[in-house]
Amino acid sequence: MSPLAIHMFPCLADNYGYLLHDRDTGVTAAVDTPDAEEILAQLAAQGWRLTHILNTHHHADHAGGNLELKRRTGCTIVGPRADAARIPGIDVAVGEGEVIALGPHRATVFDTPGHTRGHIVYYFAEAAAAFVGDTLFAMGCGRLFEGSPGEMWSSLQKILRWPDDTRLYCAHEYTQSNARFALTVEPGNQALRKRAEEVAQLRAEGRPTIPSTLGAERATNPFLRPTSNDLQATIGLSGAAPVAVFAKTRALKDAF
Ligand SMILES: [Zn+2]
Repeated sequence: MSPLAIHMFPCLADNYGYLLHDRDTGVTAAVDTPDAEEILAQLAAQGWRLTHILNTHHHADHAGGNLELKRRTGCTIVGPRADAARIPGIDVAVGEGEVIALGPHRATVFDTPGHTRGHIVYYFAEAAAAFVGDTLFAMGCGRLFEGSPGEMWSSLQKILRWPDDTRLYCAHEYTQSNARFALTVEPGNQALRKRAEEVAQLRAEGRPTIPSTLGAERATNPFLRPTSNDLQATIGLSGAAPVAVFAKTRALKDAF
């Protein structure tokens, strides 16, 4: 079995597009469809034919290219059962614990409500890769448009069960501004300070900061660190429950 090829490219203002490809079978999936024309151009450049779309959620910068790509390629659209009515052209609805096959490669679906009520993520355990949409960002997390802090914290805890070496492919390049916020709520975190400098260097060179790894997020992402003494003290919630610390951190970020 050949390894799952992952091709990433920037599109729209700050999105990343992803194409997944199995060389042996030719199966090729787009994770979300921010820009149909750009995805078609990237497919042509790779010499790949689109067979699947894996949607994480219904927002236009994630599912807006679905119908055009389906019309042009006849691909199968996979998306969240909890939001099937809002996923254009959906063929296969999936939810918590179900497995999607791309040739020999398997992704487990996790329901991660919070950013939207139907958000899902795709976890390729064998490839140590996960496509987390707008649930988790490098040093950040998605805004809570349709969910409570408690729902989002439960969703993030599912991700926290994966191994540290899991590569996290999030949908936006928000890392540098996330780092600026993270430093305000956890100023004593040395790993965070070091990473913020590395990110500034990468962006100065015009390079992506994605994928991240779960290990790096565990060490530097304030939304995954509600038990940090430094974070709790800085936001005035020493000894508080993790969900309360998460909620306040999210509220502070919204106002940042
Ligand atoms: Zn979104």
